[in-house]
Amino acid sequence: MTSGLGTVHIVGAGLAGLAAAVRLAAEGRDVRLYEAGHHAGGRCRSYLDAELGCRIDNGNHLLLAGNHRAIGYLEQIGALDTLEGPPNAVFPFIDAKTRQRWTLRPNRGVLPWWILSANRRVPGTRATDYLAVLALQRADPSATVVETFDRRERVFGCLWEPLAVAALNTSADRASARLFWRTLRETLGRGGAACRPLVPRDGLSETFVDPALSRLRAQGAEIHFGARLRSLHFALDRVTELEFDSGRVGLGRVDSLILAVPAAVAARLVPALTVPDTYSPIVNAHFRCAVPRGSPHFVGMIGGTAEWIFRKREVLSVTVSAAGRVVDQPADELRDVLWRDAALAYRLPAYPVPPARIVKERRATFLTSPAQLLRRPPPTTRWKNLLLAGDYVDTGLPATIEGAIASGLGAAATAFKVADAPASSHRHWPTRVGLKTERPRALP
Ligand SMILES: Cc1cc2nc3c(=O)[nH]c(=O)nc-3n(C[C@H](O)[C@H](O)[C@H](O)COP(=O)(O)OP(=O)(O)OC[C@H]3O[C@@H](n4cnc5c(N)ncnc54)[C@H](O)[C@@H]3O)c2cc1C
Repeated sequence: MTSGLGTVHIVGAGLAGLAAAVRLAAEGRDVRLYEAGHHAGGRCRSYLDAELGCRIDNGNHLLLAGNHRAIGYLEQIGALDTLEGPPNAVFPFIDAKTRQRWTLRPNRGVLPWWILSANRRVPGTRATDYLAVLALQRADPSATVVETFDRRERVFGCLWEPLAVAALNTSADRASARLFWRTLRETLGRGGAACRPLVPRDGLSETFVDPALSRLRAQGAEIHFGARLRSLHFALDRVTELEFDSGRVGLGRVDSLILAVPAAVAARLVPALTVPDTYSPIVNAHFRCAVPRGSPHFVGMIGGTAEWIFRKREVLSVTVSAAGRVVDQPADELRDVLWRDAALAYRLPAYPVPPARIVKERRATFLTSPAQLLRRPPPTTRWKNLLLAGDYVDTGLPATIEGAIASGLGAAATAFKVADAPASSHRHWPTRVGLKTERPRALP
């Protein structure tokens, strides 16, 4: 497909790259997507675990109905109906120490009257305790979440802290108070309707990745797998050539490049690029077992090692965010500890421990500390036709699905403007490639 507006080359087929590609292809732009791996989705995908004998997600991902960029992306790729979740914002919790259970139920509207209702809020707290959250709004840019609250307050330990750790993947004593405020404003601040939790019905790839690839293929976008970008060539204010392990691709006058690779890779490819350079791990444990379908989609836990436990089709999956304290523990120790928590949450027998897979993502996201946030680059660079996308780019959002998609959409919007030369001056450089182009094909 040739639009006459130049080709947009997108490197990296994680959610940022996919969102950019989908948006540009929908507008009729000539899109070429390159991915180093043999599958798309990056840090948000599913795969067959041969030992467990079923498909699992690399990690549990929770979306909220108010994540409007992610929802818009799913709408565009026709995958909105692959999400499932409760009809309202309900967050069941259990305290692993006391075994007390409660369900947080924010009301649908913007006015948070749910805090006035004892059976909608954290037991043992008063409505006025919740007002402490407003301090985040006035927090200094260098302040952490812990510095903004009284950590002895029950509502901190049972609500604000678990939410901050889940949303920012950073412990509350290191996470930016400002970023937490921004995240709350986009979710709880918009009322319970925006907080309705949504999870993929079948798997991350089935929701976020496969439908996007299908859509791109149908629109004639070129998709290259096994295409690792090794270096970029620059001339004055432009990128002129992409050098892959398997060959080179020249960029014409009106072609542009969206670099949608992880922060560390971008820093290697782009001279003098400052990016966040400290990471925060996430540990997931997937247990092969059947869980009654009527039970909650997920349960939040405080006072245990597990933080969130998700009921999936064939597995019960446990997430530990900001997992620095457990990531080096041997897998079989983690399996036993996390199963104890998962079994408690879902009222399952503690023995025998079902077959399990422990997945440690050491670089799950960058650490969202105030200092690391200052290292986030803008999407534009000093090269006119080079744009950055990825959850590390400064979107003002945490490193999440919503943040990655926002960055991809932002880069796509800017790429529309890059084609500033008249069509007659378009010069497509010869393409010396050994890249394998994937032909459109029906997905299984
Ligand atoms: C375990 C885990 C749990 C998470 N839970 C949640 C959650 O509950 N909710 C939420 O919203 N977010 C969650 N996240 C965060 C979310 O997954 C990420 O923010 C998002 O997927 C990042 O997308 P991205 O496109 O920016 O980067 P990536 O997914 O890293 O994509 C970058 C792509 O670039 C490719 N690449 C790298 N180098 C090259 C190269 N040289 N040439 C070509 N291609 C290259 C990579 O292979 C990859 O496919 C979680 C992440 C993890 C790891």
